Amino acid sequence: MDMGSDIFIQQTEKGRGVFAGRFFRKGETVVVGHRVKILPERTIYSFQMDFDLHVELDQPAELINHSCSPNTGVRNNQFGGYDFVALVDIPVGSEITWDYETTEYSFIDIPRCYCGSPQCRLKPRGFKFLPAEVKKKYGEFIADYLKVTAV
Ligand SMILES: [Zn+2]
Repeated sequence: MDMGSDIFIQQTEKGRGVFAGRFFRKGETVVVGHRVKILPERTIYSFQMDFDLHVELDQPAELINHSCSPNTGVRNNQFGGYDFVALVDIPVGSEITWDYETTEYSFIDIPRCYCGSPQCRLKPRGFKFLPAEVKKKYGEFIADYLKVTAV
């Protein structure tokens, strides 16, 4: 897999993680996640793309860790997956993160979150349970299927 030098994968205390190999400006696509297959049900590695659709994305997308205040957001792409788009300027060497609650609707298999953010929600559960101000902060950078959900 050729990822160039834009990103690199490194071991963290949470398992492998994805890191910025260069500076990314807010709005840039950091990782393009391609759909590998459709899964019969949610797994700890799956990404939800509709109320009844869970998919596996390729690496490095599937290795991006969760944060309650992430530096990327998701955007549906032409490959049946998600692009991970910089929500802020990302310095070189930073871990790339996204918020599981911007794709998963009502269940997330994390017993307790250790993202370390001051805004940590401790037990992410899904978009359905996200506070309105957090939903507003993500704006368009959530799964398309969640945009039609009455909130
Ligand atoms: Zn957290």
